[in-house]
Amino acid sequence: MTAPPVDRMLFEKIAFIGIGLIGSSLARLVRRDGLARHTIAVARRPETRAKVLELGICDAVTADYAEAVSDADLVMVCTPLGAYADIGAAIGPHLKKGAIVSDVGSVKQAVVRDLGPQIPEGVHFVPGHPIAGTEHSGPESGFPELFDGRWCIVTPPPGADAEAVERIAELWRRAGMTIEVMDPGHHDQVLAITSHLPHLIAYTIVGTATDLEDTLQQEVIKFSAGGFRDFTRIAASDPVMWRDVFLNNREAVLEMLQRFSEDLTALQRAIRWGEGDKLEALFTRTRAIRRGIIDARQA
Ligand code: NAP
Repeated sequence: MTAPPVDRMLFEKIAFIGIGLIGSSLARLVRRDGLARHTIAVARRPETRAKVLELGICDAVTADYAEAVSDADLVMVCTPLGAYADIGAAIGPHLKKGAIVSDVGSVKQAVVRDLGPQIPEGVHFVPGHPIAGTEHSGPESGFPELFDGRWCIVTPPPGADAEAVERIAELWRRAGMTIEVMDPGHHDQVLAITSHLPHLIAYTIVGTATDLEDTLQQEVIKFSAGGFRDFTRIAASDPVMWRDVFLNNREAVLEMLQRFSEDLTALQRAIRWGEGDKLEALFTRTRAIRRGIIDARQA
């Protein structure tokens, strides 16, 4: 393979731990734009490793953590959150001095808790979260434009090396993202309401419909364009990934769920008492929020 021009290259070698939707999208972008001289993916399952080679997503694949990370200058963890503690233990002793360990996990305090203590002295730890995704998973579902025009939240621990933080920020900028630096706890609260609770609600609605009698179920599918269809798309998201999000962002999700339940009860009451003005006032407010999202080009 011809070496990419030096000015575009950000890293000598990137090791992707986990190469599903997010990992493979970033790996594709790195390859397309020559952001690293060499890329390697770690995957447990032989079928994942075969797919990565078949699709030419990385230069090499392995099931061996030590082999992948020992000479990598960036290790990007892209697995479900529940795997982080074991991955930390597996890679920690083999990391190169001066390397950066980063990740893409959807919850950040848990990453600091599970991965942070495993990062040895002299290795930089810069967690991150690209706010971009689809309901699909696996290496075949990734594409390099996934991140374009979206936000990436970077949550460096106190005292993190400024140069390492900047290199991670620059990687995501090259992916077309805008960077926001945030405290991990604040990140988890913001994402609990903007992402985690909406997924929980979608899973619930689709689950409720599935529990209905057979005939009604068929009609739910037939007339799904009436709003239900949008929920089914969200509720098709990866079960393992989302299980881990809820288990690892428990406090923030439960707090937002409590507020949501109170607001739902207030709406229930407004419907019961025929308080149309209250309903209309809320729906007018929410419509304005949707317009704001469209104006911010995040729709
Ligand atoms: P995905 O498509 O399901 O890919 C997960 C990858 O991790 C696969 O390569 C899988 O391959 C590997 N893996 C799964 N369990 C593992 C384990 N226990 N140990 C080691 N490797 C394991 O998932 P994704 O959507 O890319 O999500 C990855 C991360 O990105 C998650 O932490 C998620 O919170 C975050 N994220 C997701 C989205 C989204 O919309 N999907 C958006 C932003 C951030 P093998 O099974 O072959 O090992």
